Amino acid sequence: MTRPDATVDGLDVSAYRIPTDEPESDGTYEWDSTTIVVVEARAGGRTGLGYTYGEAATGKLIEDKLQEVVLGLDAMDVGAAWLAMGAAIRNAGRPGVGMMAVSAVDIALWDLKARLLDVPLVDLLPAARRQVPIYSSGGFCSYSMERLQEQLEGWVADGIPRVKMKVSREPERDPARLDVARKTIGEKTELFVDANGALTRKDALHWAYRFCGEWGVSWFEEPVSSADLEGLRLIRDRGPAGMDTAAGEYGYVLADFRNLLECVDCLQADVTRCGGITGLLQVGGLAAAHQLDVSGHCAPQVSAHALCAIHRLRHLEYFHDHVRIESMLFEGALLPSGGELRPDRSRPGLGLEVKTADAEPYRIR
Ligand SMILES: [Mg+2]
Repeated sequence: MTRPDATVDGLDVSAYRIPTDEPESDGTYEWDSTTIVVVEARAGGRTGLGYTYGEAATGKLIEDKLQEVVLGLDAMDVGAAWLAMGAAIRNAGRPGVGMMAVSAVDIALWDLKARLLDVPLVDLLPAARRQVPIYSSGGFCSYSMERLQEQLEGWVADGIPRVKMKVSREPERDPARLDVARKTIGEKTELFVDANGALTRKDALHWAYRFCGEWGVSWFEEPVSSADLEGLRLIRDRGPAGMDTAAGEYGYVLADFRNLLECVDCLQADVTRCGGITGLLQVGGLAAAHQLDVSGHCAPQVSAHALCAIHRLRHLEYFHDHVRIESMLFEGALLPSGGELRPDRSRPGLGLEVKTADAEPYRIR
């Protein structure tokens, strides 16, 4: 194989706002649409695709600060591009939207490199596995009991062995919701909950014992705000032994993950926020050095490839909104089988193409 001689000669950004299929809420947020920012990076006649779930302003930041940094770089030098992008947004603000912008471009550059080499993206990474275990996620606080039950039944019918629902928006409603959930999924399916940081420390500790003891919940995500590191550590250390405390979806820079290492049982990371695939690989190394598993947060089509390279991988969140959006917008979207997502090794890169005509009605940038 000869080394492709290709410089990045195009970086296009678009954004699409997709209405949810019904109003959604969790412990601390309500929404009726989700915006995805899509980056297409070009070199040598090939196009790489990346994306992040962020506001359209993320796309403007890419155009204003990252485009000029990436254009003209050797398409093989993804790490160099990542460092240059990080330097370029220092004053604009690296954590948050800044790193979401970097993530989308980094993913597009990895996809581009794989396509130039004509290999599936997973084969370009230090993959340690061929498939990624998933858990299905939704169970919004805004759902009726009937809708909650219907969604859970669908996941169990699809052979998903673990499911997650939102809690703690109106804690007094949770016992009835959890009764329905456990009854619907049976005893064998693992039940996870996510409070999205809604509870105080004392309330979170109280609910940790109830969730675990009464409904067999084995995963309590963001029981308190993930900014409350001491609170997370309190729940991790004083909560029930049969339940893991998890956080990390708002980790942007590596220091965010370092700060969580002594506060969680399992470290979450979102490839579309934490600096893309380059950033995720660093998080994987950090977690391994601290004997922690990593759980991937959302964006299943990128995560299916990227998480194969995380040696201490627990699972991936197969999130209702993103599953729906990615199958609407991308041709080649993977479907789970046996509770796992398996990258398609017959297609180069991520194996995704934007369904341009289907996406167009939702375009906002
Ligand atoms: Mg969460």
